[in-house]
Amino acid sequence: MRLIRDILKEHQLLGKPSISCEFFPAKTPEGERALLEKIVPRLIGANPSFFSVTYGAGGTTRDKTLGIVDQIQREHGVPTMAHLTCVGSTREDIGNFLEDAKSSGISNILALRGDPPPGQESFIKAEGGFEFSHELVAYVKSYERFGIGVAGFPEGHIACTEGREVDWDRLKAKVDRGADFVITQLFFDNSDFYTFRDYLQARGMKVPILAGIIPILSGRQIQRFTELCGSKLSEEISSRLNELGDDDNAVSAFGIDYATRQCEELIANGVEGVHFYTLNKSQATLEVVRNLGLGK
Ligand SMILES: Cc1cc2nc3c(=O)[nH]c(=O)nc-3n(C[C@H](O)[C@H](O)[C@H](O)COP(=O)(O)OP(=O)(O)OC[C@H]3O[C@@H](n4cnc5c(N)ncnc54)[C@H](O)[C@@H]3O)c2cc1C
Repeated sequence: MRLIRDILKEHQLLGKPSISCEFFPAKTPEGERALLEKIVPRLIGANPSFFSVTYGAGGTTRDKTLGIVDQIQREHGVPTMAHLTCVGSTREDIGNFLEDAKSSGISNILALRGDPPPGQESFIKAEGGFEFSHELVAYVKSYERFGIGVAGFPEGHIACTEGREVDWDRLKAKVDRGADFVITQLFFDNSDFYTFRDYLQARGMKVPILAGIIPILSGRQIQRFTELCGSKLSEEISSRLNELGDDDNAVSAFGIDYATRQCEELIANGVEGVHFYTLNKSQATLEVVRNLGLGK
């Protein structure tokens, strides 16, 4: 399957942002069927340049991640990236994952450190494994066959106590070790993205930075997510969510409108791609992409 870096180069030449959609392996067989038979086919309507599939805590979804990526690529012909984390894995485990990915024709890996598993406060390096994602990037790069994406944090990574610029310097180190592009954590204030992008570009980072966008679907859910990942909800969003309460239809309509306005502004300011955290739902992402005039 094609390398995402080549697809992003084409977008750069055309001056048109890429659209990509992220899924997670469902917990139940019904959820997995819905993802593969309904959600993914519907999201083809968003004209995606690529899809991506997450890698669950402690490697618990290893085979599911590979299986879903493989199935999407075979059935829909859309390049699909497998996420991979260092959590609980030795170099050998990671090597085996990459060999399996290679045999399934998977060409793109999102190289991550991963979050600590539930109940564990901070990340603990597995014996014989990697401590930081830049080590994983270098290891995946040594295979000389995978395109590599990495995570970036416009507000700084939640565990980085030295300040966001130190975290951004570490992101640059991941790119220097071989990453082809960056996908950001979800954010709601575009000025955070511009400051982050300007900082990195001023230090010579040239790879595409794709903006991670989540159309809000539920007030409680987004509160939980932002607490976990450290992204901030603006005053405007928080007070609107308070007014809408548990009316998830109204919250979704607000979320679609907010994400549309956010993406329109990012596109007007030259964003190279928009990466949607779909939460395995299709409607909100499809509506935003159609509002932007970028769907099929
Ligand atoms: C687009 C995207 C997709 C994601 N998908 C998944 C997924 O599928 N599965 C999953 O479990 N998680 C996923 N995550 C979450 C991610 O794993 C966590 O945010 C994790 O805590 C950080 O991962 P990282 O790759 O950025 O780590 P790193 O780049 O290793 O950074 C982790 C922390 O270590 C610090 N650090 C880095 N290098 C050094 C150094 N040399 N010395 C000291 N400190 C250092 C950084 O500042 C940061 O605070 C995703 C995040 C994003 C943005």
